[in-house]
Amino acid sequence: MAKIIDGKAIAEEIKHELKQEIDAMKERGIEGSLAVIQVGTDPASSVYVSNKKKACEALGIRSESCELPEDVTEEALLRQIEIYNGNPRIDGILVQLPLPPHINEKRVLDAIDPTKDVDGFHPLNVGALLIGEKGMVSCTPAGVIQLLKRSGIEIAGKHCVVIGRSNIVGKPMAVLMLRENATVTIAHSKTKNLESLCRTADILIVAVGKPKMIKASYIKEGAVVIDVGIHRMENKKLCGDVDFEGVEPLASAITPVPGGVGPMTIAMLMHNVVLAIKEHYGL
Ligand code: NDP
Repeated sequence: MAKIIDGKAIAEEIKHELKQEIDAMKERGIEGSLAVIQVGTDPASSVYVSNKKKACEALGIRSESCELPEDVTEEALLRQIEIYNGNPRIDGILVQLPLPPHINEKRVLDAIDPTKDVDGFHPLNVGALLIGEKGMVSCTPAGVIQLLKRSGIEIAGKHCVVIGRSNIVGKPMAVLMLRENATVTIAHSKTKNLESLCRTADILIVAVGKPKMIKASYIKEGAVVIDVGIHRMENKKLCGDVDFEGVEPLASAITPVPGGVGPMTIAMLMHNVVLAIKEHYGL
């Protein structure tokens, strides 16, 4: 039977450590803050924004939200980002995605001061990750690394297959595993013989965005399986990209959905906010 990797508990552990750092900064008179920009009123986005603000509150980080109408112009949104970039009281800036189709997402993300880019999406931060320099790392892949390390799973020398090559999950995930000395293969929609490729993985990280696509036939016995996917099924329950029931008996360790990778994303966002505060105050 596989070890179930408890993302909720590990996320709590990380937030507890961050709270101690934040409390110590407060004793020195430093109060960090995060600005969250939301465009429109998409209910899913509103839930994500509210969860991020709650996480800030629980850790003692000030959060400020800026709600802009769905039809806001790109220029107005860019102006708001400039205001936050220039405001020394704002340490982190986050623009909730997706943005409406009339707004160029890339232009918006590129406009955020890289030292305040707590999502780690700015090209300078992405480049820093690639060449192994200091910078903000995309929260979900950074969370997967913490899940593996804090579960005592050895990464160095292991063959890791990452399914998915998106800019926010698959690509940074592969680079981070490489940084941890795994031998990494990236798979995507044009990959041939995906099933047999996955069966060569010691660590299989799935960010494919297809509910329960990865079945037992994709798994080498004893592999570690990390499921990044999140889907709401018709019965309202959540499931991942991995068929948990089928895969779990073969794996040595596996993340559940919910309660695996999901809670780590917000914990790592808080980690990036703390990094940004330290950077701004030269700590
Ligand atoms: P994207 O849709 O941007 O990327 C999916 C990737 O999977 C693409 O690279 C695509 O390949 C590849 N792919 C699609 N179909 C196949 C296939 N049949 N075989 C092999 N590869 C395939 O998704 P994201 O990276 O944004 O997200 C992935 C999943 O993670 C989603 O379920 C999302 O909801 C979840 N997620 C969870 C988060 C969390 O906090 N837990 C945070 C972010 C995402 P190609 O490039 O060739 O099109």
